[in-house]
Amino acid sequence: MKRVTVLAGGVGGARFTRGLLAHLALAAPDAAVTVIVNTGDDMWLDGLRICPDLDTVMYTLGGGINEEQGWGRPEESRRASAEIAAYGRGWSWFTLGDLDLATHIVRTDLLRNGSTLSQATEFLCRRWQPGVRLLPMSDQPVETHVCLAENIDEHAAGDYIHFEEWWVRYRARVAITGFEQRGLADAVAAPGVLAAITEADLVVLPPSNPVVSVGTILAVPGVREALRSTSARVVGVSPIIGGAAVRGMADACLHAIGVETSALAVGLHYGTRAAGADGSGGLLDAWLIDETDAAALPALAAAGIRSAAVPLWMTDLPATTAMAAAVLALAAVS
Ligand code: GDP
Ligand code: CA
Repeated sequence: MKRVTVLAGGVGGARFTRGLLAHLALAAPDAAVTVIVNTGDDMWLDGLRICPDLDTVMYTLGGGINEEQGWGRPEESRRASAEIAAYGRGWSWFTLGDLDLATHIVRTDLLRNGSTLSQATEFLCRRWQPGVRLLPMSDQPVETHVCLAENIDEHAAGDYIHFEEWWVRYRARVAITGFEQRGLADAVAAPGVLAAITEADLVVLPPSNPVVSVGTILAVPGVREALRSTSARVVGVSPIIGGAAVRGMADACLHAIGVETSALAVGLHYGTRAAGADGSGGLLDAWLIDETDAAALPALAAAGIRSAAVPLWMTDLPATTAMAAAVLALAAVS
């Protein structure tokens, strides 16, 4: 196992990758890990380019994450955000800590001076040393918007708002009718992204949001084809345990695209890579589900997806390391 590639969102992808690195340090010390990160949550705020998922992965793996929040830095103040709000600028409900703001200032400066997002990310990682090659899915801006099903505040039903507004301001509690990934059709996979998939020995879909994290990466032109054609094993880890999103809003996102919130339904949504099974062009060789969802194993097997049921709560590093070991074990037999 030399080259492992992970397609990640923020918290779920970052925490899983931390366990993966801990496992590989013992099991395959010369393995190199690439993390391709969703940039659909990115936005401009107060003149700064914010990349929530890239930063969560970078801080988590670099030892600089606020563990309770899953984003931002520990022990940072909100004084600058409060000042911006006092001017009536920005999004009053979206606060950025003062230490985190420094990252956005540096990134925005790099982008304004002609760096691509890949180059800016590489620069920021020189400080954080995340222990992986961190790649944005694309250097072109892609922004996920949601279509509101009801009127709320200044927005009317049918309006589109940025995904982060739906999640942070409305806690994903306002009904939506779907998603639009603005800029996606013209986006090109960032340098190294497609090769990281086609030249890997193992590709992991970690327990990230299957719709707005992994789903957005999969929609970048060429990514799905790279996953279909790679000689690597493709193994997914369920972000759904016992019919619920463990943390976050995957349930609301799945509901919006008509997929049931269950480990089985998400596995079938990704589908099997096995040739000719149903001709639908799925992505998985194998799928890891939680031990409490073991009843789904026969249905997954019938659909051509090799599966195993193990504990999938990322409660601490040992538990997450054991999940990564289970992924490698499943890849070896599938
Ligand atoms: P985000 O961008 O910060 O929302 O992070 P991701 O998209 O990477 O991951 C969010 C998803 O991770 C959530 O919707 C959950 O379904 C899943 N998740 C979070 N914690 C756990 C955990 O401990 N175990 C599992 N299996 N999934 C988790
Ligand atoms: Ca995210």
